[in-house]
Amino acid sequence: MKLILPRMLQARIEALALNAFPAECCGLMEGVSGDAAFAVLALHSARNIASAPDRFEIHPEDHFAALKTARANGRAIIGCYHSHPRGEPRPSEIDRRGGGEENFVWLIAAPAGAGGPVATAAFVYSATSFLAMDLARPVGADFVTSSE
Ligand SMILES: [Zn+2]
Repeated sequence: MKLILPRMLQARIEALALNAFPAECCGLMEGVSGDAAFAVLALHSARNIASAPDRFEIHPEDHFAALKTARANGRAIIGCYHSHPRGEPRPSEIDRRGGGEENFVWLIAAPAGAGGPVATAAFVYSATSFLAMDLARPVGADFVTSSE
């Protein structure tokens, strides 16, 4: 399974992860999905309302607004992103417990420190586990839009 992620959007997620450091940033990814790939077309950064610094919980208002915008664009919310400050770019135990939605993409950005570098990886939740995805770049014209 492939995640087509424009370089610009990956750079934005990594910048958000550094801005939030040492707390976690979080948000949703708008895009389209096919049989073998998901494509991210826009990001919706969200307020993290988790009470612990090593958790994330997307503010329900931000979640709702992202769903509404995606729908208006004829797209879907295909996944979420969050950061693991000084952690690993893979689902934590807490993420595994919260996994939930089938075929939902999880992008994790792990800044090693306040100044980076940031390691980023993507997973798709399928049949009760997270499967690693290949990150790919879009081919052809830059069709990226931003809603931020
Ligand atoms: Zn996590």
